[in-house]
Amino acid sequence: MSKAFHLPSKEKLLVLQKNDRWRNWKTLDDQRRCILCDQTFSGREVIVTPNRSGKPILHCPTPDCVSTPREWVHLGDPLTEDDAWRDWLRTLDEPGATTSPLYDVLPKSNATHA
Ligand SMILES: [Zn+2]
Repeated sequence: MSKAFHLPSKEKLLVLQKNDRWRNWKTLDDQRRCILCDQTFSGREVIVTPNRSGKPILHCPTPDCVSTPREWVHLGDPLTEDDAWRDWLRTLDEPGATTSPLYDVLPKSNATHA
């Protein structure tokens, strides 16, 4: 792995905000859960390395975990918290897929006119 950037807090937050286009980082204390390694971490722990052209790339802090910010969800129960739920949908909503398996386990919204 390339050598990690050592960024001042303020700059690191900006890097997170700019390079994680799926979720909004408000502070470096914001927490995310990586759905690949199932670990929780804060923005401070995110590892930033430069790619070949020098662009910062965000990495899960777990050694050898290959996730990207796309696989990082807000903490919370997706079945009860809208933010967490939307996160899971975004994560599972691969381009080209018309449905995700999780859609099927949700109760269908009741659209009958009572
Ligand atoms: Zn991970």
